[in-house]
Amino acid sequence: MTLDGERRIPFSIYTRSHSTCAPDAEHGRASFGFNRLPAELQLRILASCPPSTLFQLMHVSSTLRAEASKRFRAEPSAYFLVEAWWLLDGAHPGKTSCDMAFLAHVENIEVEYQPSLTTEICPRRNDVLTIRQDLIRAFWNSLTRIFPEVKKVILNHNGECITWPDGPGPLPLALQLLLRACPRHVDASTLMLDKGDPARGSGTVGMPLERWRRSVYRLGEDGLWKRSEPDKVRMTVMMPVKRFIGPVGEFQKLYYDFTENILLQKYELWPLMVEALDRHHFDGGNREPFSCPIPECHAYLEKPGAWTIHVAEMHFQERKRLVEALPCALKVGFKNRMHALEAKAKEIDAQYKRIGDEWNEKDGLRRRDMERSWMEQLENDEAWSTGNAARESPLWTEFPKQVYVGEGCT
Ligand SMILES: [Zn+2]
Repeated sequence: MTLDGERRIPFSIYTRSHSTCAPDAEHGRASFGFNRLPAELQLRILASCPPSTLFQLMHVSSTLRAEASKRFRAEPSAYFLVEAWWLLDGAHPGKTSCDMAFLAHVENIEVEYQPSLTTEICPRRNDVLTIRQDLIRAFWNSLTRIFPEVKKVILNHNGECITWPDGPGPLPLALQLLLRACPRHVDASTLMLDKGDPARGSGTVGMPLERWRRSVYRLGEDGLWKRSEPDKVRMTVMMPVKRFIGPVGEFQKLYYDFTENILLQKYELWPLMVEALDRHHFDGGNREPFSCPIPECHAYLEKPGAWTIHVAEMHFQERKRLVEALPCALKVGFKNRMHALEAKAKEIDAQYKRIGDEWNEKDGLRRRDMERSWMEQLENDEAWSTGNAARESPLWTEFPKQVYVGEGCT
């Protein structure tokens, strides 16, 4: 989960088989028997398979690969995640951890659209608004080039846009322009955090959370924006990752492990703790109003869900204070999890330090070796191409700064 509360499903979990007794030999036998069924029956069975089973079939059965792959990619509730800045920047393989070969088959895409991008696409200087048509073109050119099979795109704008309103309509101008520029064969929409009905609530300071809502907007055939409720079963699935090989890959893996693994797991602890405490008092027929467990807070929570709103308004992301205040039955598991994540972060820090020490050795021999191997890989390995010459690659120009300050996990 991100700091903003967006749920992320790692690809490995999305495709993990839930069967506890499926060794390879069993797969082989099942697949053999399956192949002898009439084709029509095979297709009907495939139609009821979850994505994890389809993914396994893509890898164990040559006869079923094409059909399983088609159904896996067309799973309507799964949207694969990509970042907007990467598309705007030209979608270079070296600036992502995604497996580029997989991207070529993706049909449903969720674009993580940071609200700050609005000021990149529509900058305003001295009260003059500029529209960066070049960026809007770059966005769709990148997207349709990298995802040639794309059918649906949802731009997820989860946050308050500080410059909004910058034009008429329910969306920031930059989002409106991006959606209007969408190719005809793509169904594009945006998932917005918006303020809901302006008649409800009052003022801007201490605005009650219940005024905020999430909405989907798409452009109607009449040119007007249509609002609908978000799809509750939609899942955001993280792309499978590339192989981190060579000196560049090994170094980038440290950054990936920290930002995409440890940080997301760390952020999810807080909402999990919040929900666990709510369920502790109100689940399974229990109905036990309770006092806010955070020291010096006197709030009294009388109904299910009241705690969630209270903690979001008053104690946002206070992981350490909250874990200490949990009942013992909940505390142990969460503390163990926190310690495990801290240990992993320390391990990554130690690896940054080890590389930094080698880089900074006094005789400079190791530094020359490292430079030579980095240049060789950046010049020849398409997986790390950034659109720059090897020596100007941001991966290389940032490398000495990252190892010098060991900034990976700080
Ligand atoms: Zn409180």
